[in-house]
Amino acid sequence: MMKQCGMRVSALFIRALSLTLTLALISCGDRRVDNYLELSCPGVATDQSRSFMPLVKSGRPVLVLIDPSFSQFEKDQIAAAAASWNAINSVRGRRNFFEIENARPERVSVLKSGPNCDFTNGEFDTVSIVREVDSSFWSKVDTNSDHPPGITIRCPSRDGLTISKQATVINPGRAFSSQFRSVVMHELGHVLGLGHSCADPRKGETPSEKFVDCDQLPKNHPYRNAVMYPLLRIGEVKEELRANDVERGQCIAQNSL
Ligand SMILES: [Zn+2]
Repeated sequence: MMKQCGMRVSALFIRALSLTLTLALISCGDRRVDNYLELSCPGVATDQSRSFMPLVKSGRPVLVLIDPSFSQFEKDQIAAAAASWNAINSVRGRRNFFEIENARPERVSVLKSGPNCDFTNGEFDTVSIVREVDSSFWSKVDTNSDHPPGITIRCPSRDGLTISKQATVINPGRAFSSQFRSVVMHELGHVLGLGHSCADPRKGETPSEKFVDCDQLPKNHPYRNAVMYPLLRIGEVKEELRANDVERGQCIAQNSL
């Protein structure tokens, strides 16, 4: 009996390893994510100059409102992820990218009709990190057999250059708890205005000479190692920002003042 049981577990484990998690971004209710901006910064290669999205230009840190329904472990991981981003803001007279607030329930965004901009309590300079495990919500997120553990819904302002409001939604049940911080790190990158480290046409991202196609990158390329790469393998942990994330994050810092 014991042996049979063990085999079943390992067979399941092998199958899990072959899957990847997609880390999603949804822009303003539709699934187009091609409202990318072009920024030029020293240290950012030309093939990524169009990997940026509308920025948060408030002159203050983005206030991260943590949904009280997260566990204490999850709240701590969110704070640690925000601290990692803060540590790379090296602009002179620097300010942090993020400030953390363990929010009262009434401060946190409420998603009403799915992954679109119809949510409450959104402000241009705040982001709620919402814990959502309802399968009816996630069934509206899932496309092309992607089952993302987190999404960031960004609602650009009319001119398309800045953000009017945004919210990040996380389903902790869709990744191992050891990956929770990796997922949050990635989504907080989107909150700042970072697109993926390469364009994934399967997600509506248009590759060009200014935004390299993920499929063209060799194995172990730095853009694949980035926290902002669009896929995270099952069990893979990315809790430290990589060179690519740092270069592009500092570019955001220089352009967000
Ligand atoms: Zn993403």
